[in-house]
Parts: sequence; C-alpha cells; structure tokens
Amino acid sequence: MKTAGIATQEGQSQHGADGGRRRAGLPTPPLARVLFTGTLAAVVSVLCVVGVVLWQMRQDAWEHARQVSQNLLTTIAGNIDANMRVYSFALDLGASAWEAAEGGRQPPESLHKLLGIIAEKARHLAVVFVLDRNGELISESEQFPPRGGHFADRDYFQVHRDRPGANHFLSAPHLSRLDRGEPFFALSRRLTEPDGTFGGVIVMAIRLSYFSNLFKGVDLGADGEIGIGTRDGTVLMRHPEPGLGAVHANIADKPLFQRMKAEGSGSFVAAVDDVERLYTFAPIPADALVLSVGISVRDILQDWRERALAIGAVTVVLCGALVMFAVLLRRELRRRAAAEADLAFLSLTDGLTGLPNRRHFDQMLQREWRRTGRTNASLALLFIDVDRFKVLNDRYGHARGDEVLKVLARLIDASLRRPGDMAARYGGEEFAVILPDTDAHAALGLADALRSRIAQETGRADSPVPRVTVSIGVNAVGPGTNLSVADLLEGADKALYQAKAAGRNRVAAFA
Ligand code: GH3
Ligand code: MG
Ligand code: MG
Repeated sequence: MKTAGIATQEGQSQHGADGGRRRAGLPTPPLARVLFTGTLAAVVSVLCVVGVVLWQMRQDAWEHARQVSQNLLTTIAGNIDANMRVYSFALDLGASAWEAAEGGRQPPESLHKLLGIIAEKARHLAVVFVLDRNGELISESEQFPPRGGHFADRDYFQVHRDRPGANHFLSAPHLSRLDRGEPFFALSRRLTEPDGTFGGVIVMAIRLSYFSNLFKGVDLGADGEIGIGTRDGTVLMRHPEPGLGAVHANIADKPLFQRMKAEGSGSFVAAVDDVERLYTFAPIPADALVLSVGISVRDILQDWRERALAIGAVTVVLCGALVMFAVLLRRELRRRAAAEADLAFLSLTDGLTGLPNRRHFDQMLQREWRRTGRTNASLALLFIDVDRFKVLNDRYGHARGDEVLKVLARLIDASLRRPGDMAARYGGEEFAVILPDTDAHAALGLADALRSRIAQETGRADSPVPRVTVSIGVNAVGPGTNLSVADLLEGADKALYQAKAAGRNRVAAFA
C-alpha cells in the first residue's frame, strides 16, 4: 500500500485514493467463531452420546432376548429330559419284570397289565408294547389280546437285535401301524433272555403330539419357532407346525443344523424361510435330542427400533435447530462486526477523496512521531495546497472543484512509493503527506516531483480537469531531535507559506 491505512481486524488497509469499496467477504469475529465451534462440538458430542446410548439399548434388547430364550430352553429341556428319564425308568422296570419272569413265560394277561401301568405313566400319550425276538408284537398296553403285527423292519428293533450293548434307543419318527397312522417316535429297550441272548424289545411309542402339547403354550411372537429333533437331524416337532412333511424332514445337511451340531449349545442368528431369527439351542443329553428356540430378529428389535427412531428423530431435530441457530448467530455477529468496521472506516476516511481524513492523519502522525523517537529515524512532512483554488471554483463551479480534488488525491497517492508513506486530506484544498525514514533532501525531491507531475498531468490536453498547480511546504526532523509534533506541523505550514509567497507552483523547505 502506498497510503498508510486503517488497520482492520484482518490487518488490511481499507483506504485508497479511489475511495471505492474496500472489503471482500465478512470477517468472523472471535466470539462468533468460539460460539459456532462450541455449538458444533456440543452437537457432535450429543450425537455421539445418543449414538452410544442407542447402541447400548440395542445390546440390552439382544441380551434380554438371549436370556428369555435361554430360560425357555432350560425349562422345556428340563421338562422333556425329566419325562424321558421317567419313561426310560418305566421301560427298565418293565424289562426287569419281563426278564424276572423268564421272558415270554409269564401269563400274557399280567404282561398286558404291566404294559398298561407303564403307558398310564405316559399320560395317555404313548402305547407300550413288547416285540419278540422275531419282531412280532406279542403284548401291548391298549388291547388284550394284542392286535399283532410285524415290526422287524423298525430301526429300534434292528438296533437292539444287532447291538447287544445298546441300552435305551430313541427312534426316528414313524407313522404308527397300531394307531391309525399317527406320527410318533419310539423309546425302546432291549429284552435279554436269561442266557444273555436277544429276547425282543420293549417299546414306548410316544405320539409326537406330546411335543406339540408342550410347545403350544409357548409364546414366541409372530415369527418365533420352537423345534425338537434327533441328533441325526430328523425333525420331531416344530411349533408352529408347518405340516407333517416338515416334521419328518431330515435337516442334517442344512447349515442351521450343522452349526447347532458343531457348537453343541449356544445361540446365533440365522435366516430360515426368509425370516432372520436368534436361535438358542441345547442338547437334551440323556435322549440324544436337540431343542432349539428361535425368536425373530424383527421382534427382538421392534421396541428398540421404535424408541431409537423417536429418540433419534428428536435428537436430530434439536441438533439441527442448534446448528441452524449457531449459523444464524454467526451471520448476525459477522454483520455487526462488519457494520462496526464500516463505521470505524468511515469515521477515519474523507468522503470525497477516499484518503484518510484529518483525524486519521493526526493519529498516524502521532504514531509515526513516537516510532521515529524509538528507532532514532528521520521523519518528513509535506503540506500541499492548491494554488488559487478559489478562482478555479469560481470559474468552473464547486462540483468541478471537487473533481479536481479527487484527481489530485489520486496523483498524490500514486506518487508515494514506500509502504509506510501516507497521504491524507488535511482539510479544504490542502493535503498532507507523512514520509517516515525520509530526510529533508529526499522529501524535497519527492515534493518537487509531485508538484511538477500535478502541473503536467492536469495540463495535458486530455485531462478531465482544468490545469492546477500546487505549492508544497516541506519540513523534516532528523534523528535525536528535541522538537515536538506541533513544531513539525508548524514548520511545514511555514514552508508552505513561503512557497506561496515566492510565487506558488513551487516547493519550499522549512529552514
Ligand atoms: P492560494 O493560492 O492562496 O491557496 O489561494 P486559494 O484560493 O487556493 O486559497 P483560499 O484559502 O483563499 O481558498 C481556498 C478555497 O478552496 C476556498 C474554498 O471554496 C475551496 N475549497 C475548500 N474545500 C473545498 C472543497 O471541498 N471543494 C471545493 N470545490 N472547493 C473547496
Ligand atoms: Mg488553502
Ligand atoms: Mg489554496
């Protein structure tokens, strides 16, 4: 800059002899910056906290579902396990009685009665019968005499016949031959002759409705399911029942079953029939069954989702409002700061020429004076006065006179080379120039160059204003002066007077 100007908040000079607009964009005051950044930080913190809380709530929903599933599983598994143990025990008693009576040699009626008592323990869910070593039905709990039938093809018969070591055996599900095709599975035990040879099998055929009765009262939500199957992957019962076909289905090759088999017990999420569920499963050890409870993920997260949506929406709206408020506040504070800067600028600027005004000149001169004292430098001052300006005004009019002042301001401003040099409108048709670190000689040179340039530029044929000349008074103080600012001003003024007195259009130095 050639004119020393008003230091704005960005430290930029806003003055120039063209007097045009000086600012680009609105500056952000520190308070606005702190408020805005603080609000953004608060909003981010709130979003983080709410996010963590929602995530925690989601974890809690999962944990709750896991616990409910586990409790249910434990209760049902305990019930089935306990029943199977009782049934096994009943079969053991029946087998002992059969073996104590030396096999088939006991009266058929008493064997039938014994089987009836055992079946009674199974709460009418089961038929108990005895097969001889050839698989022929020789006694049953339901009827006397027995209905008869050949069962050598059943898995339970073959297992006991071929593997003497096998104790209790749990069969795959079958459709009953005695019970009008009712689906059932069999719990069976080997009968051994006194000589240790295979004597036949005692069988408790348990209707699969045993499981459906057990599962019926369990509420697992709309998409929940509970299922039980054998270790080899045959489904014994599923609730809700998808139909008989599925009950008999073997799912040994399905990933769901394979994972359950591999992990033994626990829980995981899997999608079956397009429904994602949390499956919790456990073996029922005594009887080689696998029980699983599946609760749909949608049900588990339903409550959480609704709450999360509500909390999330409220949070987002509040945070959005806060950010909006911060943006508006920042804009308002910027506007105010800009308005204040404008006012400060205007109060120190000459409206006609755009140069610093007298007040600003006085401040700058004081500052320069102090700096000169500190740095032990010299300081020069020019007083520039238009010659016979009154005459020009009278001849061309006041408005034209104003144009001349503007042109002169531009020329003076343009003639300054150093960043510290400053031109000001001192008043009326007088200008002043502060030249820091400049001695009298250099100042005189600069003043004379300026004087002749003004005469030359305004005297050109294409000049927009009439030709004018100026007289310039120069005063400079050297290092270590004991003069005052007033002395400096007075000296320049006197020099100007001398220049006028000497005929005008000239430069005079204060001697
Ligand atoms: P000298 O050579 O002795 O300086 O003669 P001069 O006429 O310039 O001096 P004088 O002080 O008698 O007159 C100054 C004139 O400048 C009087 C005033 O009308 C005019 N003037 C002061 N300020 C302005 C201004 O802002 N615009 C215009 N157009 N004229 C101004
Ligand atoms: Mg004057
Ligand atoms: Mg004058």
